[in-house]
Amino acid sequence: MKRLYNDINLASRNSFGVSESARCIVEFDSAEDLKEIFSAERPEKWYVLGAGNNTLFTQYYDGVIFTPTCSSLTVLSDDGEGANIRVEAAYDWDSLVEWSVKQGLWGIENLSAIPSSVGAAPVQNIGAYGAEVKDAITVVEYFDTNKLEVVRLTNEDCRFAYRESIFKQELRGVAIILAIEMHLSRTPHPNLGYGDVIKEVEARGGATLENIREAICAIRGRKLPDPKVLGNAGSFFKNPIVEREVAERLLAEYPDMPSYAVPNDDNHVKLAAGWLIDKSGLKGYRSGAVGVHQNQALVLVNYGGATGGEVIALAKYVSQCVNDKFGVEITPEVNLL
Ligand SMILES: Cc1cc2nc3c(=O)[nH]c(=O)nc-3n(C[C@H](O)[C@H](O)[C@H](O)COP(=O)(O)OP(=O)(O)OC[C@H]3O[C@@H](n4cnc5c(N)ncnc54)[C@H](O)[C@@H]3O)c2cc1C
Repeated sequence: MKRLYNDINLASRNSFGVSESARCIVEFDSAEDLKEIFSAERPEKWYVLGAGNNTLFTQYYDGVIFTPTCSSLTVLSDDGEGANIRVEAAYDWDSLVEWSVKQGLWGIENLSAIPSSVGAAPVQNIGAYGAEVKDAITVVEYFDTNKLEVVRLTNEDCRFAYRESIFKQELRGVAIILAIEMHLSRTPHPNLGYGDVIKEVEARGGATLENIREAICAIRGRKLPDPKVLGNAGSFFKNPIVEREVAERLLAEYPDMPSYAVPNDDNHVKLAAGWLIDKSGLKGYRSGAVGVHQNQALVLVNYGGATGGEVIALAKYVSQCVNDKFGVEITPEVNLL
């Protein structure tokens, strides 16, 4: 069943909490709903909005927003050693992680507390603490708005990479994800090699699923502002990838600058956008209702009542300061509308 709302305020539908509006929102339950709409008249301008944790509305959205409401979880098979599950797009990601931990199923526990709908999780291949959703996904099912049919892609066909997938490339503006399928295992395989995870897990008595989830929720809770309390969209900027000579020039001047190898590419180096912003003197910077978070420079925040335009003006200022100081361009990771 579909529901249609005209001229709706989006403040409660984006984690920044900005008060912009959209011409129309369609909440849909199934592929049949979408087929009916797209075969009658394809909207000229449209966007799929999940839980809105990675979307910034910078102005009135003069188009149609599709939001899934289908949210079932089905165990397709369980042989005691592992389970294959199917989860629909509107299911809350962290509730899924919580469910898997309760079932004794390993594979997504390190992705605890990432604010996301299940449908958005494959789009940027959500990842944290050494795990990515691609490691558990077997199939992504979507409605193809050109072919007007449901398509099932295998993990390999999704072309997952670091914060990337086919849904951000060729299928952008084509695919509306309906559900994902995953394989989760009952064989313990703790993945504790990242940051403080091992220390926090040991402090809780060892590597059980419950302890890993609890440890990761605690670490994240200390580092990142809760969007329910302070509007934000997590990391606002991507970590920039620069030519090796640029990184070497900067490292000569700033020997403590973090830098990371780019897999299969010796000519480029990845830098940490958060460090560049911090060293530009902007951690804790505030301009009216918006600012750079005081503990995590990669996160821009809405202190209350900010418009999308104010957030984007701050983002431009931040990237200009970083460019002036380091000669490096940083660009938003967040989807801007
Ligand atoms: C506090 C905070 C912490 C975060 N930490 C992390 C982290 O550790 N790791 C990480 O990877 N990300 C992180 N993020 C980013 C965010 O969690 C992910 O981008 C998440 O997948 C967003 O889900 P959403 O449903 O809210 O997406 P939305 O903002 O609604 O949409 C995000 C993108 O997915 C598309 N999309 C959404 N649903 C569908 C669908 N059904 N079909 C097709 N396309 C769809 C949208 O069009 C858009 O391009 C964080 C965000 C916040 C606010």
